[in-house]
Amino acid sequence: MSDAPKPSEHSAPMSREWHYHPELPVKYAPYWGLPPKVKVLARWIFQNWLQFSDRSIFLMLAFVVAFWLQPVASDQGVISVEWIIWVFLRNWGLLLVVAGGLHFWFYGIDGQGKLLKYDPRPYMKRKNALYKFGYQTWDNMYYSMVFGASILSTLECFLRWMYGSGLINTLSFWAHPVWFILLFPLLALWQSFHFYVVHLFLHQPFIYRHVHAVHHRNVNTGPWSGMSMHPVEATGYLSAILIVLVLPSHPVHMLFLGYWLMLGAASSHSGYEAIWARDRQALLLGAFFHQLHHRYYECNYGNAEMPWDKWFGSFHDGSEEATAATRARKRRMHAR
Ligand SMILES: [Zn+2]
Ligand SMILES: [Zn+2]
Repeated sequence: MSDAPKPSEHSAPMSREWHYHPELPVKYAPYWGLPPKVKVLARWIFQNWLQFSDRSIFLMLAFVVAFWLQPVASDQGVISVEWIIWVFLRNWGLLLVVAGGLHFWFYGIDGQGKLLKYDPRPYMKRKNALYKFGYQTWDNMYYSMVFGASILSTLECFLRWMYGSGLINTLSFWAHPVWFILLFPLLALWQSFHFYVVHLFLHQPFIYRHVHAVHHRNVNTGPWSGMSMHPVEATGYLSAILIVLVLPSHPVHMLFLGYWLMLGAASSHSGYEAIWARDRQALLLGAFFHQLHHRYYECNYGNAEMPWDKWFGSFHDGSEEATAATRARKRRMHAR
């Protein structure tokens, strides 16, 4: 459960720009406030990591795969179709279930109408020549499945082979329990930094035109928009997972980061604050920070985990003043 304001009974638009927005200004994860507010931080960690949320689901999934479905064993020290095929099938299947499931709920059966939906405009279901095959969803599914999930699977196979052949060590919980646990939030912070840097680069005019424009076809995003990326972008974005080549880790950490990257992109692009079912907020998705990026472009290159945008002057906190400042920055960038 979050502290987000309850949607009004009539589900009226909350502002001229947004049908729904969380409490403004947009907040960062409370690691960064000075002096540190220990209670707030403890509550945030409990709510986001240990209660039912997209993050805790990906964490559980990583444990199920790493310790039960397909643990890394010495057989994976040898490249063979027999184990590789399962990695690909599982990742395609997971993306299909998560992005497909969210899409089905929000836009297929219109499970909660506009309740907690950010953008007042409807999701683009009409034919539009901008998109591959003419439709946003088909376009997004094509890029997500052909490139997104396949590139993650390739990286996962490479890393499984590295662990399996002993080229990188497998960290045991019993040897280093504190590091084992701490590495999960550290990986989310690392991903935030990596995403900020890669994304800033993607917005350089030449790269934007040839690569990142594919992702930004989605102004009004849906779950399938998350991994809808040009293969160059998907490779750059997913390369965050290679951090396990230098940090001591267990395959469960690698898998968690992979799911955080791939499945997290589906939940963070769904266009809704949360899944609303049985008269309550059933699952918080909360990605207004990135929704602002898709609306105004030259702001919020990172995510809400770490305040890179705040530190480097590209933060959009959801206010009208921030919109004006972003538009001015965009004009300056284009004048150059
Ligand atoms: Zn995006
Ligand atoms: Zn972008």
